[in-house]
Amino acid sequence: MKIVRYRKSQKTLSFYKNNYKFHEPYQVLVDGTFCHAAIENKFDIQDQIPTYFHATTKILTTPCIIMETEKLGKKVNGAMLITKKFPVHKCLHDKNPVSGSKCLKSMIGDNNSSRYMIATQDRQLQEEVRKIPGVPLLYLHGCTPTLEAPSEASKKAAQEVIKGLVMTVDQQKTLKTLKEQTGLVEPQSVKCIKKRKQKGPNPLSCLKKKNNKNKINNNKPESSDSGKIRKRKRIKTPAHVKEILKSSI
Ligand SMILES: [Zn+2]
Repeated sequence: MKIVRYRKSQKTLSFYKNNYKFHEPYQVLVDGTFCHAAIENKFDIQDQIPTYFHATTKILTTPCIIMETEKLGKKVNGAMLITKKFPVHKCLHDKNPVSGSKCLKSMIGDNNSSRYMIATQDRQLQEEVRKIPGVPLLYLHGCTPTLEAPSEASKKAAQEVIKGLVMTVDQQKTLKTLKEQTGLVEPQSVKCIKKRKQKGPNPLSCLKKKNNKNKINNNKPESSDSGKIRKRKRIKTPAHVKEILKSSI
């Protein structure tokens, strides 16, 4: 079971590393609910989370989370003491502290640019975190830490990025034509067409037909040759030669 769990967590971690540029030390924001569950299940956050990830990890809280646990009184006294152990990341609520969940959501923002992991047992907060792409979610299942598999929002956003990088055949064609039109690339096909056009309108064939209507049959095999034949034709075609030949017969 331990190996399976390890593989799962590493697979999820590599997803976030590859798609959302997560890196060590991982920053894990813990809230009061997570700390409370840790006490109840005798889970040592500071020691066991890095062990679970097999990576260096920073466990963090915010002033709002500490204040919330303080307000809740004796019931969560243990959780409050734990939250105070960890380094505090400044939030934007110095003057007007908000609930832990609100504070964590503001820390994540729209795109989790600071690459936080969220450790919470709050079901509602979990649901809201899942909607934001690129936010790893950690919670305790009994005394077992669980890094949840990437949410649908995270997967979708990652796929869209990949699609943007890998162009379809049609997109490649349009890009090529755009490059040719703007002169970034010299189109190879144009060169070939130009050569063909020069060859096509050669006046030789037209001249043959005009000058020697009678000798169409004789010229046909010669016309397949290159331009050198013209000189021969001019020499051979004169009418008086024909007359001499006819008279001799
Ligand atoms: Zn705050």
